[in-house]
Amino acid sequence: MSQIPFNEPFIAGKELFYIAQAVALGNIAGDGHFTMGCANLLEERYGISKVLMMPSCTAALETAAMLCDLQPGDEVIMPSYTFVSTANAVARLGAKPVFVDVRPDTLNIDETLIQAAITDRTKAIFPVHYGGVGCEMDLIMKIASDHDLVVVEDAAQGVNAFYKERALGSIGHLATFSFHETKNYICGEGGALCINADRFLQQAEIIRDKGTNRQQFFRGEIDKYTWVDIGSSYVPSEITCAFLYGQLELLDEIAARRREIFEDYRRQLIPLEKVGVVKLPVVPKHCVTNYHLFYLLVKDRSVRDQLLSYLKSSGIHAVFHYVPLHSSPKGRELGCDVPLPVTDDVAGRLIRLPLYHGLTADKRAKVVDAIKSFFEKDCSSPSESRQASDGFESGE
Ligand SMILES: *Cc1c(COP(=O)(O)O)cnc(C)c1O
Repeated sequence: MSQIPFNEPFIAGKELFYIAQAVALGNIAGDGHFTMGCANLLEERYGISKVLMMPSCTAALETAAMLCDLQPGDEVIMPSYTFVSTANAVARLGAKPVFVDVRPDTLNIDETLIQAAITDRTKAIFPVHYGGVGCEMDLIMKIASDHDLVVVEDAAQGVNAFYKERALGSIGHLATFSFHETKNYICGEGGALCINADRFLQQAEIIRDKGTNRQQFFRGEIDKYTWVDIGSSYVPSEITCAFLYGQLELLDEIAARRREIFEDYRRQLIPLEKVGVVKLPVVPKHCVTNYHLFYLLVKDRSVRDQLLSYLKSSGIHAVFHYVPLHSSPKGRELGCDVPLPVTDDVAGRLIRLPLYHGLTADKRAKVVDAIKSFFEKDCSSPSESRQASDGFESGE
């Protein structure tokens, strides 16, 4: 039986050619032709003042957390329904993630709950654009400016998506992108830090380049470079950026294909939503999604686990998303386990379907047929209904 994987990395065209070119140019370390090419393309296309390419979105989040000057005991407001890196970036500096519940429609941070979570230790808000659908940034930026907080958009999933005609990643003081192989535009492992508030630029360059002022030296602003602050090594290789450039220059083609797959899933699954057995992703009118993921919300955890195992037995690899961070072992240890009813509810009944460039109409039909036939049989049979979810994976 042919298998349908959850994800399959897509080669757009010239990635390997550009890697060969980077080698021929004689600079495969950082900040050469292709690193700058990627950064400039992202800046121009999305109206971001400055983009610094990074080895991962995790590295970009860590840099952003350092730029917020977080001290032990400081607090950062974010959703618990996110990838671990959002919280880890903050916790590694001794600061505390303060988890706020998500909206039941977009599964993004519930902006109406942020105000009540602010204390005199709050330094920043890290909204996460789940599935490439924008958070309610107008209110979030307003709250931040009223309380003098830094906003860091975790736009790992939000490259090439828009909120009220502004690109995700261009709205917060800082923002982060991911080019991990599970995202829309990829280079294996990769990311970027977007800087929209100029006051962070110099410090960001220093953190990224081992705590030195080497970038100023390259620009001829100083005559030698030296150790000036605490930093790390967050400059990606030219080889990685050469690969990414091959993807970014075909961004519109890649985006069109994801849209086609997403819309086809939606069209075929709407009948199931009409009869009330699943809920499909919601995209508010003022948001343009990048179709990063397609998910189903089913009735409860037991149906979720049964459907995952039914799909698996049909050769289809679907995953759930995420194990919420507030109730994770580290989240509990840090004292972050607060009641988050919507998060707990949706995390237990969400399934992500395969969504990648090579997912042909035939394969989509197979996925849809399997889902339909699952709901046609009596899925409340008690013999199957108690399954541990530990046997399934959570996606990145
Ligand atoms: C993928 C992802 C990350 C991590 O990105 P990497 O590039 O793998 O470090 C962070 N936050 C969110 C919301 C993500 O989806």
